[in-house]
Amino acid sequence: MQRIAVLTSGGDAPGMNAAIRAVVRSGLEVGCTVYGIKNGYRGLIDDDMREMGARDVGGIIQLGGTVLGSARCAEFKTAEGRQTALNNLAKRGIEGLVVIGGNGSQTGGYELSKLGFPVVGVASTIDNDLAGSDITIGVDTALNIALEAIDRLKVTASSHRRAFAVEVMGRDSGYLALMSGIAGGAEAVVIPEQEIPAERLEEILNEAYARGKMHGLIVVAEGAKNNGEKLRQYFHEHKDRIGFELRVTILGHVQRGGTPGAFDRLLATRLAARATEHLIRSEHGVLIGWIKGAALPTPYPEVIGKKKPLDLDLLRLADVLAQ
Ligand code: ADP
Repeated sequence: MQRIAVLTSGGDAPGMNAAIRAVVRSGLEVGCTVYGIKNGYRGLIDDDMREMGARDVGGIIQLGGTVLGSARCAEFKTAEGRQTALNNLAKRGIEGLVVIGGNGSQTGGYELSKLGFPVVGVASTIDNDLAGSDITIGVDTALNIALEAIDRLKVTASSHRRAFAVEVMGRDSGYLALMSGIAGGAEAVVIPEQEIPAERLEEILNEAYARGKMHGLIVVAEGAKNNGEKLRQYFHEHKDRIGFELRVTILGHVQRGGTPGAFDRLLATRLAARATEHLIRSEHGVLIGWIKGAALPTPYPEVIGKKKPLDLDLLRLADVLAQ
């Protein structure tokens, strides 16, 4: 394989740039021409791509986001859109593609590979919900950003004996909320995988105060039915009976834009270098993920449409440690 291309797609994740850099430089190392495609599948359809040299990926390993840009592209979900993409790849003689992204992006990669085009995926999403990778690019940095916010809110919550809720990202996955709740010492964690009624949260906070705690902190996943706003409303509506309100901080996109930490830079570099090797050796139609301490391939059919289950024993651990 002489000509390969790389794109980043879907939600951006800290570490994507390290992955782009690793694809470009590992490809160049073995004599390939490497194209960077702008804005995910959008650039593939719009023919927005250019050849990349080693210097084009200099000074990016420490940057959050993605220098190639990312986009959500509905047109790629259509057969016509994918055919246009294939025509644009053929026009430049590109023989294989590395797709850096999460569930949706890898589904797109699988669709392209089913048409006979060589694709290798790199597991990248802050949600950590991708089957075929114990941990994905961006999770560690996003967790640390959530923790910084939680730690700061705990300080102010303790000073004023206030109750706070922090809503963290993760779409329909509670992973970030659960892990940041455990690492941040939250009184309760609310996740879509195991909802807790607002009445029970009220009890938990009251019990914590009765045990002498100076703060009450709840971590909420954005995908929970009782999300941050719902909980704020509940405590507001019943404030006279409860005796306090719940102050809600929604971290939102703040979590995505962080400088990638050492873990994500190394994970991204190792997964993307391995993905490039696989593509060039024509071992495609796989997702490269981190499995038991190594960068390993899983065939796309075993990954696509699967949801990685959350270890709910950890929720029990969060409860035990919130004494
Ligand atoms: P993420 O990769 O972060 O999960 P999305 O779910 O938004 O992000 O998916 C990113 C892009 O992947 C979509 O905008 C679309 O271009 C492509 N994609 C998602 N699902 C499919 C599909 N079933 N077929 C083809 N392309 C898809």
